[in-house]
Amino acid sequence: MSRPTTAVIDTQAFIANYRHAKSLAPDSRALAVIKANAYGHGAVQLARALGDEADAFGVACSEEAMELRESGIANPIALLEGVFDPAEIGNAALHDLSVAIHSPVQLDWLLSARPVRPLRVWLKVDTGMHRLGFAPHELHAVYRQLVDSPNVRDVVLMSHFACADETANPATTNQLARFERAIDGIEGARSLANSAAVMAWPATHGDWIRPGIMLYGSSPLDGDTQQSTALSPVMRLESRLIAMHDLAAGEAIGYGARYVCDRPTRVGVVAIGYADGYPRHAPDGTPVVVNGRRTQLIGRVSMDMLTVDLSTQAEARIGDPVQLWGDQLSANEVAARCDTISYELFTRITRRVHCRYR
Ligand SMILES: *Cc1c(COP(=O)(O)O)cnc(C)c1O
Repeated sequence: MSRPTTAVIDTQAFIANYRHAKSLAPDSRALAVIKANAYGHGAVQLARALGDEADAFGVACSEEAMELRESGIANPIALLEGVFDPAEIGNAALHDLSVAIHSPVQLDWLLSARPVRPLRVWLKVDTGMHRLGFAPHELHAVYRQLVDSPNVRDVVLMSHFACADETANPATTNQLARFERAIDGIEGARSLANSAAVMAWPATHGDWIRPGIMLYGSSPLDGDTQQSTALSPVMRLESRLIAMHDLAAGEAIGYGARYVCDRPTRVGVVAIGYADGYPRHAPDGTPVVVNGRRTQLIGRVSMDMLTVDLSTQAEARIGDPVQLWGDQLSANEVAARCDTISYELFTRITRRVHCRYR
């Protein structure tokens, strides 16, 4: 027997979500974003599942790319933040990694390197998010230096949206217009769209879409529910009941006695806590599914356990299955209750949780 806390990963759902992203942007290639260990889902396993079908993979850094290369993944891979020191340029060329160039420092490193072969560059333009990238007025000069360098194979023009999840916000259209002005007169592939833009802003699709969260079956769009999208959840986070108690009105549960029973209450204890990645700040009332039926969290989440209301489940027994999010409960709904986003829930799953691939 082992602790039943498990993330079941549905690789077929991942493939279906990738195909769905491609069907929304039929004229674009797709960089499947699997940074941060595929948003907590297991980058090597999901990259293998997609295989040759993936046009390319996107990761944050060389370490993430090398984990894929060492596992035999041969697809093109892009480093979305580029390199963090000049020695990484040589390594990128050696292992056929393409690199984002977002700053003058990175540009110098690339131009002064002696890579074994020229690299593909994702040249980042800052069109309003003000995180990474060259200002629009700098772009032509930077582009010229890149295409004149023997170290550069080709250049993809890239930008990133700040508000694409807000489907009524004009910021995305404004960023697109700035992008088009900045790259006016420049040849080269274009790449702007994260998942939200793939789903809601077709004018931004360009030559390369960069879907991330949608591949894991979670919609980034305002107000989307699991049912309203064609996406299938990839992760099912599960555990089991390990204890039950019948408490009288007035009794309190767990640390800080946060929840006090207002009536006789049957409480169930579930083997998952914040050390597994379940959010400690989940409030009373956060949905939890026990035996396929929704109930709610009551009491503070502790390191290894949490507690749920079983008052409506007289038949519940120790060992019964519990789903924290997945096909019966969307991660977006749990995230909304916890003042966060599904991205954070997924990436916080810790290595204590068994991952099982289907
Ligand atoms: C993470 C990332 C994406 C994917 O974003 P999603 O919202 O998960 O689709 C796309 N582009 C870049 C540059 C990223 O860093």
